[in-house]
Amino acid sequence: METAVTIPAMRTQRFNKLCNSKDPVIKVLLDQAPIDFKGAARPKLACGKVLITKEDIEAFQTEKLYMAVDTAGLSQAKKVPQVMSWTRNPDLQVPSGDYIKAIQIRAASVATRSKEARGNRGSNLCPTCRDQVANLGHILQRCPRVHGRRVVRHDVVVEQVATHLRADGYALLTENRIPIGGTIAKPDIIAWKGNEILIIDPSITSDRRDIEMAHLEKVEKYTKNEIINWAIKSSGITSRRPTVIVEAIIMNWRGIMAPSSHAFLRETLGWNRKRIDELIIMTLVESWKMWSMERLRM
Ligand SMILES: [Zn+2]
Repeated sequence: METAVTIPAMRTQRFNKLCNSKDPVIKVLLDQAPIDFKGAARPKLACGKVLITKEDIEAFQTEKLYMAVDTAGLSQAKKVPQVMSWTRNPDLQVPSGDYIKAIQIRAASVATRSKEARGNRGSNLCPTCRDQVANLGHILQRCPRVHGRRVVRHDVVVEQVATHLRADGYALLTENRIPIGGTIAKPDIIAWKGNEILIIDPSITSDRRDIEMAHLEKVEKYTKNEIINWAIKSSGITSRRPTVIVEAIIMNWRGIMAPSSHAFLRETLGWNRKRIDELIIMTLVESWKMWSMERLRM
């Protein structure tokens, strides 16, 4: 925490404590002291704000974090605080190197051209896209320099979800191509067990996008009669009317998951904390690999 913020607040708190002391000796000393203790106890401005309590300082720091270019995308984490769980889950068996990579991507603390150019030290633009600032969001979500690796990241997430579904007794199909109107719909996973059919599409979005809205749009996109009928037919379930659930698993590149996606994994699929934490870490490590590949190509 910055001393420019904490020291004025601590100073105000200490002088206030002194001025409100019930100790008769302190009272006499305050009356006789040549220093204006009461003046010193009045709140001072720090970074343009009056900050006195620990809560004031924390709120100020949070506001600063959400305004900074590299950390603004963290603001969505408050919608689903459970996405911070992996940082302090003692049950996770993750190699320390992967844990560090995951933290680096969550915080966007890795080196990028946009950071290296600060202070008028050269161009901050992507060498391939030319008119795009080469920040981490650009590299991980849009830049063609790592397109292949971006597809790998998506496929790794799909495979991880599919592996858990198989372990839970679901039969499933991936790489679905369903004709609908003049186009092809491609929900990543169609899974079924008993009388239940799941249509699931995992996706990794920008950290500037509203992740809950992305979840709702994805569900709407695949809630179509043609897709549902295709899924029922593929499952081979004919004996009675099956329950069809259309869902999405949306994370942004910082591994922050949409609240509805988290609820789907936790409540509908019954995933425990460890599974969800591992999925988030895996996504972050795959993002780190993309960043690393782009660095090697500089
Ligand atoms: Zn680019």
